[in-house]
Amino acid sequence: MTGPSSSANQYAGSGRRSVAILGATGSIGLSTLDVIQRHPDRFEIFALTASSRVDEMVALCRQHRPKVAVMADAEAAVTLRSRLPADLGVEVLAGREGLVAVAQSAEADTVMAAIVGAAGLEPTLAAVRAGKRVLLANKEALVMSGALFMDAVAQSGAELLPIDSEHNAIFQCLPPALARDMTGAGVRRILLTASGGPFRNTGLSSLAGVTPEQACAHPNWSMGQKISVDSATLMNKGLELIEACWLFNTSPSQIEVHVHPESIIHSMVEYVDGSVLAQLGSPDMRTPIANGLAWPERIDAGVASLDLFALGRFHFERPDLERFPCLRLAAEAFDQGGTSPAVLNAANEVAVAAFLKGRLRFTDIPVIIEEALSALPSTSATDFDVIFDKDRESRAFALERIGRMAV
Ligand code: NAD
Ligand code: MG
Repeated sequence: MTGPSSSANQYAGSGRRSVAILGATGSIGLSTLDVIQRHPDRFEIFALTASSRVDEMVALCRQHRPKVAVMADAEAAVTLRSRLPADLGVEVLAGREGLVAVAQSAEADTVMAAIVGAAGLEPTLAAVRAGKRVLLANKEALVMSGALFMDAVAQSGAELLPIDSEHNAIFQCLPPALARDMTGAGVRRILLTASGGPFRNTGLSSLAGVTPEQACAHPNWSMGQKISVDSATLMNKGLELIEACWLFNTSPSQIEVHVHPESIIHSMVEYVDGSVLAQLGSPDMRTPIANGLAWPERIDAGVASLDLFALGRFHFERPDLERFPCLRLAAEAFDQGGTSPAVLNAANEVAVAAFLKGRLRFTDIPVIIEEALSALPSTSATDFDVIFDKDRESRAFALERIGRMAV
């Protein structure tokens, strides 16, 4: 592998985009591979990364033949090295260093940031600093570090493209020249849509008893476990509210969440003249992924045509902040600014992991987050080390607090 690149969008020499997929074994990673596989003339796979699942990585390496495979877990990297036949020619790297190395390598011009959670920040930032086209699925990285992340994008000239379906929809509905800063675009408000998750119609008294299996059974989308739980608590919409503020240079007062249970309208932009532009499509992440990979061109994503006759109707509701306080907590954390979004995110990650292990009730997820936010008041986020420190502090606080809670 050659060293880090210093300038934007260097091609690997073949004229095809050379892609590193961070989080290749996950839901977004696999959908990205599915789109790429349909266009061997346009894309080649430089690197695939995963956390610890060696079997999945062996299968992906055999199928897609990347130049480099990274396992974040060092032992898993050793096992992967022993399992891959030499004639595949895959170089195996390990740990955070390996993730950063492929994210900033001169051999990749496009990086899909699809690691889940704060673990994705360091390699995603490396891709940003190296001036790559960065396809951002890993919303937590941007939520945690906000202004610092966007400053790094501006400094390096990285091409940051939103993959979250709502943000990709908003991006498509804004004029291209103002799609990264909607100031002056004549936008009255953003209508951020939400499915409402599996508990949209579940009463407050029943929410305390819901199981991880119920929380992960999303009505429309098939996703990783963490984002599925976030969708069920509406924290996903809270993280997306913050994400939208940074991506489009706006504020929560200009964003109105609309629960739209069909998940066909992926978000809307209302202009001052009363026009409302929407982006519609089947709930299939291959659409925004293909949009980001080929932007500004359009490529086949393998997604079937929308059958509006079969759908018949669309519905809209206001979010219920009493049953789903996480949306309110996220808006408050954004307003507090500084380190508060990092505290919110870290406490949420710990609480969701505990819920998934059966160690925390669903309704205690927002309790833990709210306590973390008040125990660790916002300080100025002057550099990334401050963010990483707050992330650790918030995790420690949440773990300790959960330990003292009886399920
Ligand atoms: P997932 O759990 O299916 O996959 C996560 C990937 O990250 C896996 O490849 C895993 O190996 C890797 N990973 C996990 N922990 C890691 C660590 N500590 N170090 C290195 N790698 C690690 O998750 P997903 O549903 O694909 O979501 C990925 C990201 O995309 C999340 O930030 C999520 O919010 C965002 N996103 C997902 C969807 C979706 O439909 N799944 C939609 C919008 C945004
Ligand atoms: Mg989304």
